Amino acid sequence: MAKPHDDYSPLPKFLEAFPDMSGNAVNGRGETKPRLASPFFWHPHSKQAFGELQDAVLNHHRLSAGVRATYSPKALRGPKAVEQVPQKIDKDAAAWTADIKKFALENEADLVGIVPMKPEYVYEGYELNEPWIVMIGVAMDHERLNSAPDSLEEPTSAVEVGEQYNRAARVSRNLTNYIMEQGHYAKAFAGPYASALLMIPPAIAAGFGELGKHGSLINRQYGSSFRLSAIATEMPLMGDAPDVFGADDFCTNCQICTKACPPGAISETKQTVRGVDKWYVDFDKCIPYFGEALGCGICIGRCPWSRPGTAPKLAEKMSARRTRLVEES
Ligand code: SF4
Ligand code: SF4
Repeated sequence: MAKPHDDYSPLPKFLEAFPDMSGNAVNGRGETKPRLASPFFWHPHSKQAFGELQDAVLNHHRLSAGVRATYSPKALRGPKAVEQVPQKIDKDAAAWTADIKKFALENEADLVGIVPMKPEYVYEGYELNEPWIVMIGVAMDHERLNSAPDSLEEPTSAVEVGEQYNRAARVSRNLTNYIMEQGHYAKAFAGPYASALLMIPPAIAAGFGELGKHGSLINRQYGSSFRLSAIATEMPLMGDAPDVFGADDFCTNCQICTKACPPGAISETKQTVRGVDKWYVDFDKCIPYFGEALGCGICIGRCPWSRPGTAPKLAEKMSARRTRLVEES
């Protein structure tokens, strides 16, 4: 387990807003049986136990004029939803899959992948009946991301995060409308607020990469310098496969994010979370610093895979290593 770094003390306002429970318990750390994820942070206040803390974090972010502007109602987050056309256009799954991937990539997406819906991709208390998820990724400007930690006066990284969430929202809403115009139902999901759909598990299944020690995805093109959105749809589609190239192995021997994280929230070892052994970030340690630093992002900014041009070379090297180890075994 990572220890809190000695030189960081959370702001009193975040400590006061912390409920009398651990976010790691809500997340299911230490639980050996699988269960659905509980709605947790970035959900409507009434749906989760950390509403006061969420409000404290949001109020702190609103102290920054730059962050307020990024998330203002005037932010360009894509068109309103159109009505579903009554007459379905009939094509096979391969043709629709090619169509919607082309549409996404021609309309601001950098990554697109498809995966069948699974119950574990939906938060407890929500329901999604569409059989397919289309995952969208948009790359971030690494230099701006890596300027974290931000100050209220210079929120460069937070503004970059917000602008890319807005771009990801535009992709998902435009693609949703395109699908509805073909007579098929679709629903857009865009951050930073969460709703019914978990983003990281379906993104891994859709081939976006592997989970890193810092709790975010590592992609073979963009490292961890990208944001996600999604669409759930009943349009017939074909799924992609996970992309395993050795990021998980790399994390085993790397400590860059664990050392860079000011509150020491990133665990050196995998934890059992709702029945799955995986890299885990301690919510209770992360979130006060995350709140203070306007969304933080130090861990994904400092991750070597995020440096422009680095991830493809590291992926090639780690893939070759994996092949060699398999051949030798
Ligand atoms: S900084 Fe290192 S340990 Fe952390 S996620 Fe990136 S590669 Fe893995
Ligand atoms: S977001 Fe910041 S505080 Fe949270 S794990 Fe990453 S570096 Fe640590």
